[in-house]
Amino acid sequence: MKEDNFIKFKVLGGGDEIGANSFLISHKENNIIIDCGLHPRKKGKEIFPDYEKIKDETIQNLLITHSHNDHIGALPYFLNKFPYANIYTTKATASIAEITLVNTAGLMEREFQFEWDTSFLKYYKEEILNIIPLIIKQTDYSNKVNINESIKFEFLDAGHLLGSAGVLLNIENRSIYFTGDINFRQQKLIKPAILPKHKLDILITECTNGNTESLPTYESEETRLKNFINEITNKGGSVLIPVFALGKAQEMLKRLNELMTKNKIPHIPIYYSTLANALNRVYDDFNYTVRRVEKGFKLSEIPIRLLRRTDITRGDFYRHPSIILATSGMVIEDTYSYKIARQFLRRKDFGIAMTGYCDPETPGYRFKNSVRGEKIFLDKHKTELVEVNCRVENFSFSSHTRREDIINMVEKLDPEIVILVHGDKSAIDRVGLEILDRFPKKRVLAPEKLKIYEI
Ligand SMILES: [Zn+2]
Ligand SMILES: [Zn+2]
Repeated sequence: MKEDNFIKFKVLGGGDEIGANSFLISHKENNIIIDCGLHPRKKGKEIFPDYEKIKDETIQNLLITHSHNDHIGALPYFLNKFPYANIYTTKATASIAEITLVNTAGLMEREFQFEWDTSFLKYYKEEILNIIPLIIKQTDYSNKVNINESIKFEFLDAGHLLGSAGVLLNIENRSIYFTGDINFRQQKLIKPAILPKHKLDILITECTNGNTESLPTYESEETRLKNFINEITNKGGSVLIPVFALGKAQEMLKRLNELMTKNKIPHIPIYYSTLANALNRVYDDFNYTVRRVEKGFKLSEIPIRLLRRTDITRGDFYRHPSIILATSGMVIEDTYSYKIARQFLRRKDFGIAMTGYCDPETPGYRFKNSVRGEKIFLDKHKTELVEVNCRVENFSFSSHTRREDIINMVEKLDPEIVILVHGDKSAIDRVGLEILDRFPKKRVLAPEKLKIYEI
């Protein structure tokens, strides 16, 4: 290959961690960024992808795979750095972002109220947020978009949540597929991912579950969850299920509603977050226009009780068996799920059902890995020691691909180069070693942040 024909790849955030995901793909004078996420835990400038290092480059295009904060949350900051870039998402992602970015701005304000440097809050002003839905170029799945004569792309349904997409890029007849967050298993609302039909040159894949031994099926986890809810509620306790407001909340709500209508769990109140409820409506709006397990099904018809601030200490669920779907999923400090978990942990008849990935530095991770009777520090400053008195049970309703499905994808798409991102180091190493073991001729990269890779 002629040297100037190389495609260059650079991680700006979220390489060997699930952080501020953002990746630069360059070819000659063309620069495309995929995703612009916020780091879920970091503070100050560290929360953003490293756009300072590329601020003198012209970025012509930003492609956003989906509306989780670790993929889209830094969009207002991106706009400030690269105001002339074309921004592409699917239609559903744009509709969700309209709601979630306003929420992100509120979160940022609360998070940084005691920080000395609050300069970056200016990117999240209302006038900037208002303009975002107007400038996003919305495109349907499988619609081929010509960026210029030599670069085309299309979004393919990634099966992760409403609107989620992988990006199939064609750069001077070389094909690159970026999975985004991808899932090959059918969830309650969202159908499995659709893969490119042809052999690839380069595959860039997420590795969230790379280090997890074979994941159980959703069906077997649902049976365990059903038993857990019955055991706790039969004794008069309530069950807290920490969830992400987007994706996991909707999937779990549908699952619980099905269990109730089939009389597999008692008909008890489901408490639900206000933000998740607003997002239910977007799911309902796209009932017929995207692939769905049950066309026409409306989440907004499921009876719920909105979770209010006063419920944290005085909720009816302390007296009557209930299910509480509260954010955040990783039980990050000061969120509803954190404050309710603090109360639940002390009560022996209550239960907490953990349903997905928790970053190792989060409170959720700490009690996910605790045993009953153990004393754990809930907060990161280690000021409060809490005894785990309630039952804590781990379930796997991950909306990310299993490792074996990543290997199958490599086999099927047969790329020369595989780039591994969006997973912790051990997950990426595990996937990389398995690919090399099965397909020793492939070039496998675990890219370091800000290093340029010629591919
Ligand atoms: Zn995601
Ligand atoms: Zn992600």
